[in-house]
Amino acid sequence: MRDDAFHADRTGLQKALDALLDVTYEPHGSELPETLQEHGLGELRVIDLLSPHIIGGARRLGAATAFAHMDPPTPWITWAMSMWNASLNQNLLHPDVAPVARDLEVRVTGWLAPFFGMSGGHMTPGATISNLTALWAAREVKGVRRVVASAAAHLSIEKAAHILGLQYKSVPTDDQGRLLRSELPADMADSALVLTAGTTSAGAIDPMEPGGNAAWTHVDAAWAGPLRLSDTYRDRLDGIESADSVAVSAHKWLFQPKESGLVFFRDADEAHNAVSFGAEYLAVPNVGLLGSHGASAVPLMATLVAWGRKGVAERIDRAMSKADALLRYLRAQSDLQVFSPNASGVILWRMQTGVSAEEIADGLPVGSASIGGGAGTSWVRHVAANPNVDVERLTREIGTFLAATGVGP
Ligand SMILES: *Cc1c(COP(=O)(O)O)cnc(C)c1O
Repeated sequence: MRDDAFHADRTGLQKALDALLDVTYEPHGSELPETLQEHGLGELRVIDLLSPHIIGGARRLGAATAFAHMDPPTPWITWAMSMWNASLNQNLLHPDVAPVARDLEVRVTGWLAPFFGMSGGHMTPGATISNLTALWAAREVKGVRRVVASAAAHLSIEKAAHILGLQYKSVPTDDQGRLLRSELPADMADSALVLTAGTTSAGAIDPMEPGGNAAWTHVDAAWAGPLRLSDTYRDRLDGIESADSVAVSAHKWLFQPKESGLVFFRDADEAHNAVSFGAEYLAVPNVGLLGSHGASAVPLMATLVAWGRKGVAERIDRAMSKADALLRYLRAQSDLQVFSPNASGVILWRMQTGVSAEEIADGLPVGSASIGGGAGTSWVRHVAANPNVDVERLTREIGTFLAATGVGP
């Protein structure tokens, strides 16, 4: 007997696509089951039941005023590739069941590694896992016993140090959120130095020169790494090529669906050897932290081939110009304070008096602002993950809010 659940139903897939593209979809009252039901509803009814919740209830990351977080809208080619991936379900652990997908991952990491001066690497579910993998390699290859990073480093760095049994030292930042080199310990011979390219809270880029006598230098370029693909902005990360490892979140400024990350190594063979395990049931050693893992290289490769390097750069450049325009507007208002120049598309601002960052963010369109920290206080935060944001509309909304507070220009 043929089991239709495992064969494509064109009507069903079309219905799912129609629901997705029907952007006027509003959540309505159909209740999701509270408990696992004995009998199934069938696939077509599931689409009707779930679409108002999953599609209607989701934040629209490509909306006209979406400018709050590091989560980008995704290009449609990645939706198509994600459908292929879900259907084919390749497992990169076994060359046998992923003969093509494994090669694609090697190829796509090989395309991107040279932008960072690295020789290769592998894909991960995100920079949290990339950072842990890189520091694991640092411990194995160089015997590092301590991780040193700025106070603005991502929490995943301290988490990785904790998991790996390494000490953690936090170093103060300057008034723009960049690591203060003068505060680094004099002797770093037993340490991995972690520099951040694009801090989560303020987008600050740490000075990228190698760190004294650090045994290993890792750059957490989760957010700002893709600036390396831009002719206009790549020099902001100059020096990254002397790092030993680099982490990038492809599901941030490479516009990939989650979960998609990259870890690169200057000497990828050495690092991969250091984080590999073999087993009798494996044809090839298992590299890195993951066991079974899917073909996240497929949507990434499709995006890179569809757009080319220039197509990716154009979108990042456009997002940066939108952040510049927003910054110009904010600087022209009285009674506002801006945290720093636009280093990597993260803009922080606050009102000098009265209204808190939280109150401001609540008063702006949903999805347009979040909260960031810098210099010991809260700021309204905007992140240029959406290259298609309507920045005039966003500044009009901010203007309306400011006028209502009575502070205004
Ligand atoms: C987002 C981010 C991370 C974590 O990346 P995930 O992909 O969310 O795991 C690490 N470091 C920095 C600087 C980030 O912005």
